[in-house]
Amino acid sequence: MTAMPALTRLAEDEAIFRDSVYEFADKEVRPLAREMDEKATMSPALVTKLFELGVMSVEIPESFGGAGGTFFHSVLAVESFSRVDPSVGVLVDVQNTLVINAVLRWGTEEIKRKYLPKLASNTIGAYCLSEAGSGSDAFAMATRATETGDGFSITGRKLWITNGNEADMFIVFANVNPDAGYRGITAFIVDRGTPGFTVGKKEDKLGIRASSTCELLFEECVVPKSQLLGEVGKGYKVAIETLNEGRIGIGAQMLGLAQGALDHTIAYVKERKQFGRPIGEFQGVQFQLARMATDVEATRLLVYNCARLRDQGLPFLTEAAMCKVYSSEVAERVASMAVNLFGGNGFVKEYPVEKLYRDAKIGQIYEGTTNMQLVTIAKDLLGS
Ligand SMILES: Cc1cc2nc3c(=O)[nH]c(=O)nc-3n(C[C@H](O)[C@H](O)[C@H](O)COP(=O)(O)OP(=O)(O)OC[C@H]3O[C@@H](n4cnc5c(N)ncnc54)[C@H](O)[C@@H]3O)c2cc1C
Repeated sequence: MTAMPALTRLAEDEAIFRDSVYEFADKEVRPLAREMDEKATMSPALVTKLFELGVMSVEIPESFGGAGGTFFHSVLAVESFSRVDPSVGVLVDVQNTLVINAVLRWGTEEIKRKYLPKLASNTIGAYCLSEAGSGSDAFAMATRATETGDGFSITGRKLWITNGNEADMFIVFANVNPDAGYRGITAFIVDRGTPGFTVGKKEDKLGIRASSTCELLFEECVVPKSQLLGEVGKGYKVAIETLNEGRIGIGAQMLGLAQGALDHTIAYVKERKQFGRPIGEFQGVQFQLARMATDVEATRLLVYNCARLRDQGLPFLTEAAMCKVYSSEVAERVASMAVNLFGGNGFVKEYPVEKLYRDAKIGQIYEGTTNMQLVTIAKDLLGS
């Protein structure tokens, strides 16, 4: 009998990759995290370093200038950055698990040749589905694309688009045939600077403040047919299939966040003294730490299992929905307990855990709210 390796057992290259990304995050991101949060900006110098490190192109084949890694490597990168700063985690996540993933799967050879080398060297991507009137009901989008002979003219507004401020390449969903419902939805790649396309206001947010979230405006924005991503009317498939994988990335973001909150708390309870001894010596505190660690470990199993299923070409739809529901609840719970165990210091910005508590909330909202994940899980259970 051959025993299967444990889920959380990393291959040598995976362990080296995770450790080197975490080391980088600890050295280069940690000193910037508080200021980036306060100013609600992503450091451009840091972004340059992320490209140099290869974490903005994890799955892009080496022939296109990428790192030639797996989806599992992407997940390890998102986890490692989010352990330090979940804003940097989501920047890396959207680039890899949504944008690059969609181009690799749906791009023509021409699109791949045009965009993959850029995405590997200096271009940030954004994934633009949501609108003011269509969030959970994403396919009810009002953005339209009309054929103009050799291209399409896009008109509409997208809302809450991650990386909107920094991105130069936007995957945009629009309906070319509203009478056909979701079968009219089509994906396009729109470059920053295309006439008729502007990036609008940037949201002022509760958490992940260094990650930009922007409105996008399209006013008769004409793109040639060569900018189609996938076939006309197949945009719903591009969206569904990419988001199914993206959800695992959000699981990794929430996992890293929870691990980060636990790391800070372990260090703090050893230092902070009350009643003449470190608070970590009280059994009540130890039990709370033990629960936090158990939550983190269970989340890691879900996230890693989903990523491994995906890399092995096995079904993972229900597992990814479970992974997102669970990881985002754990992140909120663990960050909340971290705040409690830091006491008054947990509530002030000088210490890192109040930020993680704020950052955790988004996990239950984007890339499909918790309720929408529960719908997916229940459909599978009931065979409906
Ligand atoms: C910081 C941030 C970054 C984002 N980044 C991106 C991005 O890069 N690209 C992008 O396209 N979008 C992005 N989004 C949008 C995000 O995906 C949506 O906000 C999310 O899908 C929820 O949509 P909504 O806000 O319209 O909420 P709604 O759909 O209005 O939901 C409101 C509430 O109703 C519940 N609900 C709705 N329908 C049902 C139902 N059928 N059954 C049960 N409950 C239901 C929801 O669960 C939720 O609790 C981002 C959002 C934020 C806040």
